[in-house]
Amino acid sequence: MKNTPDIWRHVDAKAPEMIALADRVWDMPEPLYTEFRSAAEHVEELKRQGFRVEQGVAEIPTAIMAEAGEEGPVIAILGEYDALPGLSQEAGVAEKKPVAHHNGYGHGCGHNLLGAGAMLAATAVKNWLAEKGIKGRVRYYGCPAEEGGAAKAFMARAGLFNDADIAITWHPSSFAEVAPAASLANTRIDFTFTGRSSHAAAAPHLGRSALDAIELMNVGVNYMREHMDSAARIHYAYLDAGGVAPNVVQGKAKVRYAIRHPDTPGMRALVERVKKIAQGAALMTETTVEVEVISAVSNLLGNAPLEEAMQAQLELLGPPEFDEADKEYARAIRATLSPEDIKAAFKATGMPYDPEMELCSAVVPAGTRRELMLGSTDVGDVSWCVPLVQAHGATCAVGTPFHSWQLTAQGKSGHAHKGMVHVAKVMAATATAALENPALIAKAKADLAARLDGTPYDCPIPAENKPPLDMAKG
Ligand SMILES: [Zn+2]
Repeated sequence: MKNTPDIWRHVDAKAPEMIALADRVWDMPEPLYTEFRSAAEHVEELKRQGFRVEQGVAEIPTAIMAEAGEEGPVIAILGEYDALPGLSQEAGVAEKKPVAHHNGYGHGCGHNLLGAGAMLAATAVKNWLAEKGIKGRVRYYGCPAEEGGAAKAFMARAGLFNDADIAITWHPSSFAEVAPAASLANTRIDFTFTGRSSHAAAAPHLGRSALDAIELMNVGVNYMREHMDSAARIHYAYLDAGGVAPNVVQGKAKVRYAIRHPDTPGMRALVERVKKIAQGAALMTETTVEVEVISAVSNLLGNAPLEEAMQAQLELLGPPEFDEADKEYARAIRATLSPEDIKAAFKATGMPYDPEMELCSAVVPAGTRRELMLGSTDVGDVSWCVPLVQAHGATCAVGTPFHSWQLTAQGKSGHAHKGMVHVAKVMAATATAALENPALIAKAKADLAARLDGTPYDCPIPAENKPPLDMAKG
């Protein structure tokens, strides 16, 4: 190819090693702060590539910060490597088939690719800096526990991103695109009610039911829904319904809430309202309630100059190139998806629906109308500390839902590898565009400052909360 940018060449040169890393991590799925082997694989690979590596940052044993280059601007590139429970799955097949030796875990969100793809971009930038003799540093941040553990919020709270000039990350997806900068702020919060047990038939008047308290709390919250922002989301799950005996008044019961809102101040206000309802339920039932925030993340802030710069790199590169074998496997996966899932993927990106497109064959143009992403991510917290841009890499059959066996199954496929290398080129080229053009970094910082509007980052996790390292135990 004529005029191949040097940075793409650096990505291609390291692609085989990072594909091997992605496959190794796929083979050792570990959830929520237990990513010991996956983190060790990352540390080893970073050292092999010549990075200065620090492990155990922000009091999290599986969090990594690795740097290369000297002086100059600092480009942060964020990777992840945590897996999910309930998504153990054999690779390369198009039927649900758990793998016995994965303890039920699986890479159902593609974070094996996310970590290796981010490291591929970081390594290419490192080698590009060295080749050009340019002053500048590239940092790979190994961020564990994205799935509900909010590790990046703890890393942001520890100030790890404060001296970075820009940050770049990505997520596996159906389409190659600059990711829409919208996600909900989220707090996971537990309410433990304590009452008094008694025999439900012989002495019901002596009992004070903690289960009743939770049920009344839930009714109260469900009535509140009419009077909150329509983009806010509240859901709950019983962690402890008080036991299995109906003839015992439940003396203790526990419910976990997830409270989401388009912006962090709005979320904080909603959390206070839910707490009042919990207190009301305790008052009604003569129980007491203890409240504990488990984790919290901020909403994601966009960055127009960086999004434009990344879009330009994406358009220069064009869509990923998949071969017939990739397409055949993608078609087999698609046969297991519902038409609704497939249509939803097109609708979310604003791409015209094309039932024949089994793998992404066009980059998503800028400014396509899209829906607000109604999930939450701890990338949000980083976006409050440093100008941040996020890509989506086309690593799966179009329409594959996140957190599905289908996504786990595709995690080591040819198209996943190609999509990962493709997005690494987009990220690395965005980084080198910034390193070559200090004005872009200045514009990105001004954009963030305008969005913050004088409100500095205030981590939504209470100051006394340590990273919940035992979370995977439940
Ligand atoms: Zn994910």
